[in-house]
Amino acid sequence: MQFYSTQNPAHRVGLKEAVIQGLAPDQGLYMPVEIPTLPADFFQRLPSLSFAEIGQEVIGALFGDSLSEAEIRELVEHTLQFDAPLVEVEPGIYSLELFHGPTLAFKDFGARFCSKLMALLLAGESRKVRVLVATSGDTGSAVANGFYRTPGVEVVVLYPRGKVSVLQEKQFTTLGENIVALEVDGVFDDCQRLVKEAFLDAELREQMLLTSANSINVARWIPQALYYFRAFAQLPQPVGDVAFSVPSGNFGNLAAGILAARMGLPIRYFVAATNVNKVVPDFLNGADFQQVPSVQTISNSMDVGNPSNFSRLLALYGGDEKALRAQVKGFYFDDPETAPFHAAGASGAGLYAGSTWCSRLYGGEKLHQNPIGSLPRCLFRDGPSGEISGCGGRNLRLGAGAAGALGSISFRGEKGGPSWQRFCGF
Ligand SMILES: *Cc1c(COP(=O)(O)O)cnc(C)c1O
Repeated sequence: MQFYSTQNPAHRVGLKEAVIQGLAPDQGLYMPVEIPTLPADFFQRLPSLSFAEIGQEVIGALFGDSLSEAEIRELVEHTLQFDAPLVEVEPGIYSLELFHGPTLAFKDFGARFCSKLMALLLAGESRKVRVLVATSGDTGSAVANGFYRTPGVEVVVLYPRGKVSVLQEKQFTTLGENIVALEVDGVFDDCQRLVKEAFLDAELREQMLLTSANSINVARWIPQALYYFRAFAQLPQPVGDVAFSVPSGNFGNLAAGILAARMGLPIRYFVAATNVNKVVPDFLNGADFQQVPSVQTISNSMDVGNPSNFSRLLALYGGDEKALRAQVKGFYFDDPETAPFHAAGASGAGLYAGSTWCSRLYGGEKLHQNPIGSLPRCLFRDGPSGEISGCGGRNLRLGAGAAGALGSISFRGEKGGPSWQRFCGF
């Protein structure tokens, strides 16, 4: 597969270069020159395919010209060691649970894929690769875990002091070996800026191979498309109109869903759900795209003021803003809306969950006619035994009488119990 830079479509590189460089030299993001469409029979077989079989076919279609079948199998098997179960929370509303990986973040999928792919591409290479990663929490944990002991790769995690959860800090500062964690006296944006500066430093780049494992890297971004297929496979068949609501920060996850759609997965709508860092929902609702400093919220993994994958969203629609706005609807939620019990002081902070919402859309046309009015209302439920389904900071809300039935949950655990602590890190 060939990749072009979003800054310059004429600049093209192969898979190895795109992965090792991370970002194009002109600061553009790499995008597949051609997105393959999967054959109709793949979609007929989809419900009966295992996650690994889905991975093999989807990654085969994308990377089949760059990797052997055996390499793709190794890659897929290494990545998909845990499932992404689809759980029905209300009739017709499902949650895709993406927190079953080793660090409980959906980023475990991308990080594991990325580390294995780098190891494959670097086999026989004498130079070491250094992966620089800025994190507000989840990324550092997933990348550190995914790259731990990967031969030929050293990881440096930059994280803002006091702004990541205790659990996450432990996850990436205690591994040692090829993982180095650096605490930065600043906020996430400062960490991100330091990483960008390093990439722009020609002298530094001459001395070492520097790359990133943020979702700007195609090796982190592309595998996220796999669980959209897996979600679809688990829906009751035949599947009607489907909308995926995606809790978003840097917009890699959402862009991967659109990639799946481009490969033929029949997704009707996407919902870009954010916290008050809402430059993308604002754009989708008609404003110009304007980066702003990030605002700290309780859903810290989504505190991004200048989402790096925005150019990818546009590129996936060939630069057509109207087409993008027609398929992707934007909504945002503040902290009290995200976690009413948190605002009421009933429970702790730091709620998040690695989950994407898959919703079945019964009233597609309604959404179309009334993109905002008929949509979200909160889905916060205290289950039996104090189980909370639906924190996560990017909850779409399900309205009384909302014919659209777009909804969400992302989080299951017992309030105060061990799993609650595991997820929330306090
Ligand atoms: C990373 C992360 C997000 C944001 O995902 P993007 O792909 O950057 O949009 C949202 N929620 C959780 C829990 C995350 O870890």
